Amino acid sequence: MQRYRFLSRFNYLARNYSHEHPQNELKTRCYCRRWIWLNTAVSSYDGETVIAGDHILKSRTFIWAAGVKGAPVGGLPEGTLLKNGRIAVNQYNQVEGLDGVFVIGDVAQMMDEAHPKGHPMLAQVAMQHCKLLAENLKAWAQNKAPKPFVYKDLGAMATVGRNKAVVDLPKYKFQGFFAWFVWMGVHVIQLIGFRNKLLVLINWSYNYFNYSRDIRLIIRPFSRKSKTDNL
Ligand SMILES: Cc1cc2nc3c(=O)[nH]c(=O)nc-3n(C[C@H](O)[C@H](O)[C@H](O)COP(=O)(O)OP(=O)(O)OC[C@H]3O[C@@H](n4cnc5c(N)ncnc54)[C@H](O)[C@@H]3O)c2cc1C
Repeated sequence: MQRYRFLSRFNYLARNYSHEHPQNELKTRCYCRRWIWLNTAVSSYDGETVIAGDHILKSRTFIWAAGVKGAPVGGLPEGTLLKNGRIAVNQYNQVEGLDGVFVIGDVAQMMDEAHPKGHPMLAQVAMQHCKLLAENLKAWAQNKAPKPFVYKDLGAMATVGRNKAVVDLPKYKFQGFFAWFVWMGVHVIQLIGFRNKLLVLINWSYNYFNYSRDIRLIIRPFSRKSKTDNL
């Protein structure tokens, strides 16, 4: 029998949700047949054995979903390429010490009092960086004063299964079917052009009614060397 285990280093599953949000409870319910281990950090994996704290697990399949990291860029001033792979920038998305070099989105780490570890790696942050930097570049070209970045937290949402989502807005937090509907609406509205919106809706409807679970990644064909176990 195959078993799934979700391991999280922290006592929550999704970092970008307020801690009082019932997302942990909801996710636990969604994956009730699987095991969720919170406060369990993975320290190594050799292709067969996962070491996580005091636990030793046998697994031939290991999916690391603990975050993405930008490709390191050479030639940056000392101290600007941080340990986590992000690049330290000032309130104008400028790399300190480099004139005319800007970094936006996930790889930019802009630290302020409210965000000592930088902003969360979310699409909203990348979009807001992008919009302000475009305005600031225009302002510089016209010898006007640039505006410092202030992150406007519009909230976060995620699907956690068929017909289920969690929505965590600054004022409202809800989950379940309605949240899933809101999640879909917001994502479709964000798409550019009527044609894209329509195509995505048709595609989603087809997948929904056909229970299509097709993987949406293009990867090389994979076959196990041996079929001896389901470790
Ligand atoms: C699985 C997953 C789910 C997510 N879900 C959400 C969500 O629900 N809501 C949310 O707000 N955020 C979500 N995010 C985060 C969101 O996708 C990122 O915050 C956002 O895409 C950051 O935008 P970006 O422009 O900084 O980087 P990206 O969107 O990653 O764009 C970087 C681009 O640079 C290209 N690139 C990289 N290296 C080079 C190179 N050397 N030369 C040229 N091009 C290069 C890449 O191919 C890529 O196209 C999710 C991320 C992941 C991985």
